[in-house]
Amino acid sequence: MTDRKHELAANLARVEERIASACAAAGRKRADVTLIVVTKTYPASDVRLLSDLGVRHVAENRDQDAAPKAAACADLSLHWHFVGQLQTNKARSVAGYAHTVQSVDRARLVTALSGAAVGADRELGCLIQVALDAESGERGARGGVGPDGVEELADRVAGAPGLRLDGLMTVAPLAGPYAGRQQAAFERLMEISSGLRVAHPAANMVSAGMSADLEEAVAAGATHVRVGTAVLGVRPRLG
Ligand SMILES: *Cc1c(COP(=O)(O)O)cnc(C)c1O
Repeated sequence: MTDRKHELAANLARVEERIASACAAAGRKRADVTLIVVTKTYPASDVRLLSDLGVRHVAENRDQDAAPKAAACADLSLHWHFVGQLQTNKARSVAGYAHTVQSVDRARLVTALSGAAVGADRELGCLIQVALDAESGERGARGGVGPDGVEELADRVAGAPGLRLDGLMTVAPLAGPYAGRQQAAFERLMEISSGLRVAHPAANMVSAGMSADLEEAVAAGATHVRVGTAVLGVRPRLG
């Protein structure tokens, strides 16, 4: 094994242990939580090593970086998640490689993704990104729709050709009443998820938790955690 592969293997083992302990502490089955490795800013060669090491879910947040990386890894059996703020003019590109878009936060993006998915003859899984710090009718600083906008957007996704409503995603807010209270934030997301599942029972994905707060997310009930730094290392630049 190369040095880098050893490093990634050791980091993955530590993250795996953290997820397993968090599941045990919460009385949850390990199989009920999926690890998504966020590979943003890292090269396709790392994605390839991660795939060799058994990783099946990867995530990116910028189409400019993700599109060539996904193309370079097209021979691997990976599930690509898009987790960044997404402009409508990038929808066509993202629909070409992503299996799941976790950052759906406005009606215009739903329309663009739907057209792109139909054009590519693909079905795109969609999560509504919830901004727990957004006021009524507004979007969050890091993207996402306020809690009171989730239902309408979810109905739109569910009715859009080429799209499948899979659930909800959030990033723990840095400001507002949930700042520094990750577990409370994730519990609030679970509440919103319960509400969503009344009308959309299959939309049961809950994506929450990153390197610093995956334990809180697992405790709250997240089905997917998105881990970058703890697997790949501190990012060389903002991403
Ligand atoms: C970068 C990123 C992550 C991973 O963050 P780490 O702190 O590096 O684990 C998770 N979710 C989103 C939306 C991100 O942009």
